Amino acid sequence: MKALPGRARLGSAVLATGDRLSGQGMFARLRFLERAQWWERERLHAERDRLLRDTIAVAYRDVPMYRELFDAAGVTLSDVRSAADLPKLPQLTKEVLRAHLPHGAARRTGRRTYEACSSGSTGRPLCLREDLLTAGRYRAAFLLAARWSGWRVGERHLLFGVNPGRGQGRRLKDALLRCTYVSAYDLTDAALDRALARLEDGGIAHVWGYPAALYLLARRAAQQGWNAPLAAAVTWGDTLFPHFRRTIESAFQTTVFDTYGCAEGIQVAAQCGHGPGYHVHSLDTIVEYVDDRGRPVRAGERGALLLTRLHAGATPLIRYRVGDLGRPSGDAVCPCGRGLDLMAAVYGRETDVVVTPSGNRLIVHFFTGILEYFAEIASFQVVQDEPESILLRLVPGPGFTPEIPARVVSELRSHGATGIDIDVELVDDIPPTPGGKRRFIVSALPNPVGTIDAATEPALEG
Ligand SMILES: [Zn+2]
Repeated sequence: MKALPGRARLGSAVLATGDRLSGQGMFARLRFLERAQWWERERLHAERDRLLRDTIAVAYRDVPMYRELFDAAGVTLSDVRSAADLPKLPQLTKEVLRAHLPHGAARRTGRRTYEACSSGSTGRPLCLREDLLTAGRYRAAFLLAARWSGWRVGERHLLFGVNPGRGQGRRLKDALLRCTYVSAYDLTDAALDRALARLEDGGIAHVWGYPAALYLLARRAAQQGWNAPLAAAVTWGDTLFPHFRRTIESAFQTTVFDTYGCAEGIQVAAQCGHGPGYHVHSLDTIVEYVDDRGRPVRAGERGALLLTRLHAGATPLIRYRVGDLGRPSGDAVCPCGRGLDLMAAVYGRETDVVVTPSGNRLIVHFFTGILEYFAEIASFQVVQDEPESILLRLVPGPGFTPEIPARVVSELRSHGATGIDIDVELVDDIPPTPGGKRRFIVSALPNPVGTIDAATEPALEG
């Protein structure tokens, strides 16, 4: 391994000191995770189950909401010895959580706590109490995933984010971690050209950010004849569609490492580069996959995700229905040799669903999978305000002709969008949400599989 450049080494040392003083313990945790990721799965599971027992005991002892929920379900602490016992406990929905905020859902940790709010880009913000120890945990898990991409702590990277007002703390972090921050609000060609110039001028080989932002950057790079390979791209926050990955990997001659976390303070899983699956951060979180009736789905089937954070923190999260979908891998192992469990796939927001009057559910991949074959369409969005119809907004691109909308509608119909009116509107632009994310589907109807209102923020930005 190449030695770290002098500035990076110094930055790491200063960061580690700040880390100790602030009580985050992020680097100590990262060092632990670097070792634990190679443990045998059996040992990881034993430690995971021990953490689970501790977490639910603390939650029951300190948090009125859990005492109520567990008592109502008739479950005692001794009933839950391992992850396999979790289905005995009730799910924690956002509605229940909200009903108990702020005090009924939180506990004192002996540390200063603050309110951490998800951006609420698709609904009301959700604000939970958090302390720096919890932040240190999820940040360490994110850094572990960044390490899998080949990045070294303190190595320069370009980050597309949605916190353009860099406070003092973030500016200091940017300086020490050697982060070049770029706003994901401005993704015009001019801004993308500036970002590309910063990569080139700064000799930066790592880019991090939302898949859509990196996709647009990659498209611009390809147009401009970019020919300096990047070491890796790390993504988070929304769905990494296959054509996003292909475009980013080919434009930058690199590999994309996707990560999955939630803004409520859990870094859940990430890709290691050795397979298509995601390693679950098994000592930080337990992931369950359940069907509409709350029963575990089989390996390979899609289910709603329930997350249990294995660190109580100020707001314990046990069987928390986060609002995303995923597919379990069962006992699959990764060729990289890490013992961490695998998640076969994670799917974007549950709100990205169009329900037809006949009851069919069209997820976002339905639309992207069809629309990506229309090179003449630069961008699209599906809006559903009433059950019987959807509005398809199309942004025409090069080569667009007047008969294309009818072809699109016909393709959608032949693939399953039947029994629903499809109106088409041609627009110049589709603005991102206030959270800076792109939404392919905007529905005003009740969600068939629960709601999500929390954007997944990058762990280091939370
Ligand atoms: Zn692996």
